[in-house]
Amino acid sequence: MEIHISGGTNNIRFSAAHFIPNIEKCSRLHGHDYSVDITLNGEMVDGVLIDYGIVKNDIRSIIEPIDHRVIVPSMDRYSTHRIEDGKCLVSFRHKEYEFPESDVFLLDADVSSSENLSQYFFTMLSEKLRQHRNIKFLSVVVYEGPGQGAKSEDSIEP
Ligand SMILES: [Zn+2]
Repeated sequence: MEIHISGGTNNIRFSAAHFIPNIEKCSRLHGHDYSVDITLNGEMVDGVLIDYGIVKNDIRSIIEPIDHRVIVPSMDRYSTHRIEDGKCLVSFRHKEYEFPESDVFLLDADVSSSENLSQYFFTMLSEKLRQHRNIKFLSVVVYEGPGQGAKSEDSIEP
């Protein structure tokens, strides 16, 4: 059995600013209204795969720390960042940004792309879903705008 949860119509959304240093247009600080779709596959238990509410709470708890923040990739090859006196200082090429540390989400990735966000959400959500042993497969799509998104999907090992 497969179930699908559309982020756009279930308020599984977040807004965030980011920059991608090695792409000229994207190197300028800008933002997106992201939404996240979830698809699960597995074996039903008593006619149900999983309570939709559990999945929605899980993914919302994962996206909440990113909402209305600046995403800074912690392993970017093209930029450097350092945390100092409650500030996050980012620099690349001729640019320097200074953000309050509390406004920053450090993403454990080299680029703050929707591709890497989908991989991050997949990893985080699969950890939470692992306890539901009847769930065998997870797909996460992160849209950075209507009709444009990146998917990470794989089986979940219990
Ligand atoms: Zn962007």
